[in-house]
Parts: sequence; C-alpha cells; structure tokens
Amino acid sequence: FHPKFYGHLLPFDGYAPLNSDFDSFYTRRFKTRIDDCFAAPVTGVPGRTIALLDRDSDDYNNSFFLTGTTTRGLNISSYNYLGFASAQGGCADAVEESLRRYGASSCGALLEGGSSEVQMTAEALVASFVGQEDALISSMGFATNSTIIPALVSKGCLVISDELNHASIRFGVRLSGTNIRMFKHNNMKSLESLLREVISQGQPKTHRPWKKILLIVEGLYSMEGTLLNLPGIMELKKKYKFSLFIDEAHSIGALGPNGRGVVDYFGVNPREIDILMGTFTKSFGAAGGYIAGSKTLIDRLRLRGHGGAYAESMTPPVLTQIMASMASIMGVSPSTSSALELAQHHPGPAHPCQLPAWIDLPPSLRDGSEGRMRLRRIAFNARYLSRGLAKLGFITYGHTDSPIVPLLLYNTGKMCVFHRMMRARKTPIVVVVVAYPATPLVTSRVRFCVSASHTKDDIDTVLRACNEIGDVLDLKHLPGER
Ligand code: PMP
Repeated sequence: FHPKFYGHLLPFDGYAPLNSDFDSFYTRRFKTRIDDCFAAPVTGVPGRTIALLDRDSDDYNNSFFLTGTTTRGLNISSYNYLGFASAQGGCADAVEESLRRYGASSCGALLEGGSSEVQMTAEALVASFVGQEDALISSMGFATNSTIIPALVSKGCLVISDELNHASIRFGVRLSGTNIRMFKHNNMKSLESLLREVISQGQPKTHRPWKKILLIVEGLYSMEGTLLNLPGIMELKKKYKFSLFIDEAHSIGALGPNGRGVVDYFGVNPREIDILMGTFTKSFGAAGGYIAGSKTLIDRLRLRGHGGAYAESMTPPVLTQIMASMASIMGVSPSTSSALELAQHHPGPAHPCQLPAWIDLPPSLRDGSEGRMRLRRIAFNARYLSRGLAKLGFITYGHTDSPIVPLLLYNTGKMCVFHRMMRARKTPIVVVVVAYPATPLVTSRVRFCVSASHTKDDIDTVLRACNEIGDVLDLKHLPGER
C-alpha cells in the first residue's frame, strides 16, 4: 500500500481502504485469469460430467459477463470420489423425504435445541463406520478442525504437525495458542528425530515438560496424493507415547477394502487412534465434518468445542445424504428401531448399525453390493490414471492407490493454458489447476480427482488429451530426467 497510488481511495487521511491489500497482489488482469480457470462458475450437479457457464472472452475486465451458454465436459476435478454427488443412485429420495419431515434448517446450535434425532442417528452411524465409540458432527469440515483443535490443546501443550497439513489444521493449532513443531512431509526419520528431541529432552524418557503432546497428520494429502505412513506412525506411537489425530478428509470412503479410510487400508485397529476426523464433502457428496473418538472425549468436546454452542448444527437433509451414502457403503438395512434407542446403544463396529425406516434405500444400495462396486471402481480408476500418466512420461506425485493424482506443470504460466486446452477439446475436460499458496511456488500442478463414476473410457479420454497437450506444452520427461 502506498498513498501515491491509493491516495484517491483513502476514506480518511492515513487509513487504507479495506481492499488495498488485495489490489497490491491481484492486479486486474491476473484476477480475471484466476476467475477464468480457478473459479469457473458451474451449473447443475458436479458428477461424472459438469456444465461450466461460458463467459465472454473479449470481456476480461468483467469476470461476470456470462454469454448465456454452457460447456458440458468430463469432470475430473471434483471431490466426488464415490459418485454420491449425483442426484441418481438412491440418496436423493431419502434426502427429499428428510426435507419434508424436518425442513431445511436445524434452527439452533447443538446445545440449544439443534440436537435432532437425525443428528443423533447420523453420529451413531459415523461412529460405527469409523470404528470409534462416539462421534460428533459439525456443519463444516474446516470449522471441525479449527474449532476442535483449540478445545483439545492449549498453552503449555505441544502439537507436532506434518509440514503439509491442511490450512484448517494450521488455523486451529494457531488459535489454540499451543506450541508447534513441524516435521518433513510424511517422513518418519524427521518425525522420530523431532520426537526424540521433544519427548526425552536429553532427560530420562519419563521426563515430559509438555502438558499434552498431540501428533496431527492426514490420511491422504490433497495436494500431493501422499498416503500416510500409518504403520510407521503406530510404531512411533508405541515407542514415544503421544496422542494421535488423523484427518481423513480425503481418505474416508475412498480408501481401504471397506472404504473406512487409511486406518482400514493398513488394517490398524481404529480404537488405537485417539481422534479420527473427517469430512463429508468428498466421498459422501454432502457437507460438514466429524470428530470420532472415545465416548468420554467426544462428550467433553460437545461442550468444549465452539461449534456446540455458537454455530448452527448440520441441516437434516445433509445429515440424511451422509447417512444414505455411508449406509450404502456399509450395506446397512433400514429398521424400525427408533433413532434414540440407536443413539443410546452407540453401536461399535461389532454391532450392525441400523437406519430409521424412512431412509428407504433401494435394494441395490441396501445390500452393500453397490457400495462394494464403487470401492472397486475408484481403486481401479486411481491406478489406471496414475500408471497411464507415468507411462506417457509425465511427472506425477502420490501413491498409486490415491484418487488424487497431481500432474506437475512446474511453470505457473502453463496453468491457464492447460486448463483452457482441456476445456476446448471436442470432448471438453474440466480440470483443477493448483498453485501457490496451496503448493510451493515452483511446483504448480494439475490435480486430477478420479471418481467411481468414471468409466475406463473416461480415463482413456483424459490420458489421450494429456498426451497431446503434454507435447505442446513440453510437459513430458524422458525416463531418469527429473
Ligand atoms: N481437512 C482437509 C485435509 C481438507 O483437505 C479439507 C478441505 N478440502 C478440510 C479439512 C476442510 O473440509 P471442508 O471442505 O469439508 O470444509
């Protein structure tokens, strides 16, 4: 900000206008480019295909000048891992019924009349799905981390955080006022050397200067496609004894033989993990987040978490979408048992969880075969795309089982071009390109998200397009040339 340039905008002598910070970075031209490819407006359901609203390309100074037409393209950009975002497939009927029964809003915070029977049933189902004693659902995934972490740790505690943890985790940790140490991304050597330093402090191992030590990691990293080294973490947990918090936002539903996340993928007992967090915005085609753990801990968090008293609880139709998609993965049958009875028993993984009868899933969703098929499809699609890109000579990041497949562009200038070239093809393809500050400045990338709703032909279409555009933009590398 400099008065020489912004003087005419000053509301008072010496005060900057509120937008002065943005103007210094998002110059007009750059801002419209961002709108063009990072924030392209869409219409309809973000399913296997997606419709983008066309904008007048001659009118770049007005980013909201719509032409009234749309381009429908193959969608390889949404977090719709299991395809439940689609209005077809059984969940929509249950959601509609829920809207009719309960309305669109809970009209209150959890502690102030917003704790509906739908909320209690959904929480019992989530607890059962992730294999914990109890769960708490909040209306936003970001807020789940940023309001629950300050309820868990405070001044005098230590949080050990992966250097690439999501912004919501960083936000919550900063808000808590706790001490923070970071280790290299998913690197067990770096983590162990930090643990050795902070837990023993050169003293006998029993000396612990911190009130609590909490390690926070993610199951699947959304910008890298890295799978958490959970076996390595569990070994260190046994040796050094700390509390463990895993954010499964991207792994829940998408990984593991039963779709129950990274914990399921590695066959770890979920009760050995202190806190399992996740969101419903990815695999369940819904919204919101959860925290799951022991009954005592979750009960405390209901009172201590800021969301409990100061934010409206999740809306019933969204809770129903969560239950219907989750039940389909689990193969849960509807039953006449009341929601309250269900919530009182808090079924663990050993007890089959039941849905209220009005969530009348079609038989294909109810018997679990549909859920299984979706899990198999996403596992196949993830491998097929990442291996296909690697074979073509692209540099990709991440684990072969990750549904997030980042393709490296490096040069920020290639991002909009790649996006537009994909969109301009005969079969348009909609992709997401990501850059600083979500990634380091020099590693801009395309982030493909595969879904169980994609067919093998769809992935072949994406591979063909990448092959051709990769030649034009010089994105391929010879083996060994990294
Ligand atoms: N945690 C992680 C790891 C995430 O990637 C995200 C968002 N993508 C969130 C939390 C926040 O979730 P939501 O978008 O559902 O608010």
